[in-house]
Amino acid sequence: MKRIKQAGPPVLVVALIAGCIGYILGCTQGERERETQALVEQPEQVSDQADQDGDAVEQLSPVRARSRDFYTPNSEDLGPDEMRLIACGTGMPTARPSQAASCWLLELGNGDKFIFDVGTGSGERIAAMQIPYNYLDKVFLSHLHTDHFGDLDALFVGGALAGRQKPLRVWGPSGDTPERGTQYALDHLLKALTWDLDGRRGITDPRGYHLEVHEFDYKAMNQIIYQENGVTIRSWPAIHALDGPVSFSVEWNGFKFVFGGDTFPNKWFDEYARDADLAIHECFIAVPDLITKFQFTPQTALAVGTQIHTAPEAFGKVMSRIEPRMAVAYHFFKDFDTTAAIHDRIRTTYDGPLSLAEDYMVWNITKDDIRVRMAIVDEDVWPPPATEQPQLPDASTRIPYSDEIAGGKLDVADVIQPTYDAINEEYGLHETQD
Ligand SMILES: [Zn+2]
Ligand SMILES: [Zn+2]
Repeated sequence: MKRIKQAGPPVLVVALIAGCIGYILGCTQGERERETQALVEQPEQVSDQADQDGDAVEQLSPVRARSRDFYTPNSEDLGPDEMRLIACGTGMPTARPSQAASCWLLELGNGDKFIFDVGTGSGERIAAMQIPYNYLDKVFLSHLHTDHFGDLDALFVGGALAGRQKPLRVWGPSGDTPERGTQYALDHLLKALTWDLDGRRGITDPRGYHLEVHEFDYKAMNQIIYQENGVTIRSWPAIHALDGPVSFSVEWNGFKFVFGGDTFPNKWFDEYARDADLAIHECFIAVPDLITKFQFTPQTALAVGTQIHTAPEAFGKVMSRIEPRMAVAYHFFKDFDTTAAIHDRIRTTYDGPLSLAEDYMVWNITKDDIRVRMAIVDEDVWPPPATEQPQLPDASTRIPYSDEIAGGKLDVADVIQPTYDAINEEYGLHETQD
C-alpha cells in the first residue's frame, strides 16, 4: 500500500525556533534568508517505518500532520505527466441537492482544461473548483438533453461575470435535421438570453458574452473534432433517444480518456474506447429501483432502464471488453440503498477496476497510478482571480430605462453619495451617480 510521505513538522518546529532565536540575536538579512531557505528545503529527517510489504508507513506522532486522503481544490499542483478528472455532476434529469446532472472537468498537465457536458446544477460544482474562468472556455456536449447541457446558460453568463474574458467555445453534434443540432440549440439559447445580455451591456466587461459554436457530424466515426496544443479529441455516434448523441475520446501525452455520454452499449464504443486509461460510461439505476423509487411502471422501467440507457450488467459487459485502467459508472442516484444493487449487477459481468461515480469524486491519473478521492469543497466561494485585467465597457452602449420606469426612482442620492466620495478618493476616480 502506498502512502504519501510528508515533511516532518518537528523539523519545521526546530527550524522555526532556530529562525526566531537568530532573529532575536540580530542575525543578518543573508542569514535569515538562508534559514528561510532551510525551512523550505529541509530534508526529511524523521524516517518512516516500513510495513510488512516493505512500503513506507507514516510514523505517527501527537503533533505531526498526517497525509490527507481527500482533494481540496486549488491546493495541489498538477504534474506535467498527470491528468485530473473531477465529477461535477453524476445524476439524473430530475434535480436533487446531492447530485447535479452530467458534468466532467478534465484537467491536463499541459494546462488545458475541458468540460464534458454541463448538466443542470453542475455550474455550482464547477465554481467550487475555484478555477479562473478564462481556463474554462472549452465545453463538449455529448447530446442535447437538459441533464447534459442544462447549465450551459449558467456557465455562459455566470462564467463571464466571474472572470471569463473570452468567448465560451462549445463543441456539439449535429442532428438528423438542422433543428436537432447543437448550432440550432445554441442560436436559440442566445435568443432566449436576449433580455439578460441586453441588460448587462455597457455595465460589465463585455468580452465573455459570446458563444463560439463548433457543430460536427454526429455520424462521424472516430473523427478528430479538436486538435490543439498536443490534445486530440475524437467523436463517434452513441445510441440514445434519437439520432444525434455522441461519445468522445481525448488523447494527450500517451493518455486516453473516454466519455460515453448517454448510450445503449454499442460497437463503436467497443472499438474506439479500447485501451483507455479511464473510461466513463453511463450505468442506469437497476430496474426494480426504477419501479419502487422512481415510480415508473414496470413497462417504462424496463424500456428506460435497459433500452434507452445501459443496465448495470450491460455496463459490466462493455467494460470487460474494453478493459480500461479505470471504469467509471454514472447516471444513477447513488444512495445507501441503491448502490449495492448497481455494484452487484456490474460485478456479475466485470471484475476490473471500478468507480461508482458521485459528485466531487476526483481521479488523479499518472502512468503508474490512478488515485481516487473525494473533493472537500468550500461552498461559500467567490469568483476566482481573473487572469487578465477587467476591461471597462463602453458605457454609451447601455440601454436606458424608459422615462416612465426611470421616473419611478426614489431619491436616495444623498445616502449613496458618501460611497461615491469614498470610492472616488480611494481609487482616484471621478464617478458620478446616474
Ligand atoms: Zn440523455
Ligand atoms: Zn442523461
